[in-house]
Amino acid sequence: MHRFADGTSAVCKSTYRPLPRIIVSYALPNQAAAFVTSERPAQPRIAIIGAGMAGLACARYLQDCGFRPTIFEKSRGLGGRLATRRTDQGLAFDHGAQYVTARSPHFRAFTGAAIACGAAGYWRPVQRVGAATHTEDWVVGAPAMSSLVRPLAEGVDVRLARQVSAVMRDGGQWRVEMADGADEGTFDLLICTAPAPQAQRLLGAEPAIAGVLGAVSMAPCWALMLSFAAAIEAPFDVRRSVSDDLAWVAREASKPHRSGPGAWVIHASPHWSLRHLELEAADAARRMAEMLPDVFGFLLPPVDYASAHRWRYALTTSPLGRAYLCSDDRTLFVGGDWCLGARVEYAFESGRAMAEAAAETLLRIPQ
Ligand SMILES: Cc1cc2nc3c(=O)[nH]c(=O)nc-3n(C[C@H](O)[C@H](O)[C@H](O)COP(=O)(O)OP(=O)(O)OC[C@H]3O[C@@H](n4cnc5c(N)ncnc54)[C@H](O)[C@@H]3O)c2cc1C
Repeated sequence: MHRFADGTSAVCKSTYRPLPRIIVSYALPNQAAAFVTSERPAQPRIAIIGAGMAGLACARYLQDCGFRPTIFEKSRGLGGRLATRRTDQGLAFDHGAQYVTARSPHFRAFTGAAIACGAAGYWRPVQRVGAATHTEDWVVGAPAMSSLVRPLAEGVDVRLARQVSAVMRDGGQWRVEMADGADEGTFDLLICTAPAPQAQRLLGAEPAIAGVLGAVSMAPCWALMLSFAAAIEAPFDVRRSVSDDLAWVAREASKPHRSGPGAWVIHASPHWSLRHLELEAADAARRMAEMLPDVFGFLLPPVDYASAHRWRYALTTSPLGRAYLCSDDRTLFVGGDWCLGARVEYAFESGRAMAEAAAETLLRIPQ
């Protein structure tokens, strides 16, 4: 627990509007060191790279403690690999993470609050006959997978379509170089949540950290988004198989609040994806679609839409083994799912752990 200069100890000494339920329920744990905006003349500048689950969980926590982080995200939307592709035809495909499970109390509280506020729902698909039944609840964003992170971003300064091209020390601070050449100035604290291989490239000027990142490995995944002209009478909503080239086949309409009865998402296995990693997307889509009749076991109707997405860094195969990395002076934090494993929950836990540690550092920065 943090003690303020006036001798009071604070668990949550917030001076601003009451927090929405989703935030109170998970982001201010009992021992949190709360930061009171009005007691500090100047806000420390905090940059977070990435608006996936790790970056947003981190930002939410810091924001709830009274800090004002800025997120730089290279893509045009929130969520990172919690991704949804929308098409001109009005179709939507969750082509990255398929569902989340919650084991830790914090992530359970978060998913529970996300369901309560309508940003998520339970997914109970029909699995193919003979498939092992899952015992955990599957939770998906609603109406799209990327919706799951929206409550975390509320009120946070997220700058989309802003790619960071390099980071470097500048005196006691961090300079963030943008791909578009804009000057964002310097930051007291830098938090990077890019996938490990990308973080390694960004952090080349920090050899101690970049070196450790080299030990993490991530497998690719080709994702096929496909819509049939008519709904098909498949005996399953989800079919997964670790031994097949098409490891995952899922009917989008079986998730809560989805339309588009003919839309399916198909993931190739890590092995197939690696072997075909450098294919053109159209070629990958064609080859994956050709395997589908064997999966369904009957003649398929014509295809309305087919597109493939290459996830070069999809699933962590050798994680770091701890929740984050940080520089000796604790002004640089590096994390993401790859710290603990290939699950959304691990990204959340890494983001949260970095925020707690970063808050400790920030409270020590002289005013
Ligand atoms: C195909 C697939 C299926 C999956 N299935 C599941 C599943 O069913 N269940 C599950 O729990 N997990 C699943 N996962 C894993 C899950 O998606 C990840 O564990 C989780 O989303 C990672 O979150 P993150 O915040 O650590 O990283 P990301 O979501 O990758 O976020 C990092 C963000 O940083 C941004 N970024 C990177 N570099 C820069 C830069 N230079 N400048 C600015 N921004 C940058 C990226 O654009 C991205 O938005 C799956 C992943 C994939 C790809």
